[in-house]
Amino acid sequence: MNTHSITWLNGQLLPTSQATVPVNDHGLLYGDGVFEGIRIYRRRAFRLQKHLQRLALSARAIALEIPLSSDELTAVIEQLIDAFPDDDGYIRLMVTRGEGPLGLNPKSCTQANIIAIADQLTMIAIDELQAGARLMVSSVRRLSADGLDPRIKSLNYLNHILAKIEANHAGADEAILLNAQGRVAEGTADNIFIVRNGRLLTPPCSEGALEGITRELVLQLGQADGIETSEQPLGVYDLYAADECFLTGTGAELIAVASIDCRSLPSCPGPVFQRLQQAFRRTIDQECGGIA
Ligand code: PMP
Repeated sequence: MNTHSITWLNGQLLPTSQATVPVNDHGLLYGDGVFEGIRIYRRRAFRLQKHLQRLALSARAIALEIPLSSDELTAVIEQLIDAFPDDDGYIRLMVTRGEGPLGLNPKSCTQANIIAIADQLTMIAIDELQAGARLMVSSVRRLSADGLDPRIKSLNYLNHILAKIEANHAGADEAILLNAQGRVAEGTADNIFIVRNGRLLTPPCSEGALEGITRELVLQLGQADGIETSEQPLGVYDLYAADECFLTGTGAELIAVASIDCRSLPSCPGPVFQRLQQAFRRTIDQECGGIA
């Protein structure tokens, strides 16, 4: 944790090291809660309203009432950014079910806890000499929509963590999870794109991907640049056969991929990636007034 890290906890601003929630919070006991990761660029929260909309939908899907309105949450984030000393950073906004008895029934949890941590985040540290991330296709499958819908951004990330552990053991930077049918879903905290024959392809969210805010932006930037884009199911072979591959996410931003299961891609960072990366930076400049 960065020593500058500040937390807003149920109305109070505290150094993160002093911000604590009770041990019987069902967020801790059962992963019962929802969250968002939000980037700060030049002291502004990037695409905040989209994050708050997704948070509200995730909360509704798990029947969790957020005690603050979207305008009040916007004010919380602004207050947190004002108190945070760095110009750029990352906010983890969480709403947990709150305190309750040890059983998992949420019925007796009456007050959700709202937590917003401002800190720094490096998702995948790419070595200077390494052109991009080394991916592995994980044996851990993405949970299916009839178990836990992947569009719900809940505090339960254990299957992603298992995939990451597998990637760590294999010496890879990131794991790709397949869905129950064996088609490509997404990374542990990022969406995946490939470029093949000049076309920009990513799996549809119905394949088990989160409706990523960066994913949506990258599809729009690709279209604006005249690149043919398509949301279509992808198999592992499609990853191996790609001309380019990259990851997107709030934490990840855009990360070029060098190899998948030790098969090097022909181009990293590829020309389409570089164009989209520039367009992404320009969008940040336009919306937040530049990047440090
Ligand atoms: N998939 C998962 C599982 C994630 O946790 C994230 C990070 N929020 C993403 C994709 C990327 O989504 P976004 O671009 O909205 O951050």
